[in-house]
Amino acid sequence: MGIIAKGAKCNVTGCDKDGMRSLTTSKVEGTGLSISTSSKRTVLCKEHYKEWKKATKEDRDVERARFDRF
Ligand SMILES: [Zn+2]
Repeated sequence: MGIIAKGAKCNVTGCDKDGMRSLTTSKVEGTGLSISTSSKRTVLCKEHYKEWKKATKEDRDVERARFDRF
């Protein structure tokens, strides 16, 4: 959480809000969020963190639905 303490901004393209969470970049890619970072950590603001959580939850729901058929 070190970079958050330094006042890092959200890494989503076009967003300049204060970062709230830092996540592994690979976990943020592929969730529909457009991020601009070359770092291994991606900083998200409160709103984009919520969006990310929603996106990953939907992924899990899809996987569960697929699993239930077997
Ligand atoms: Zn943001």
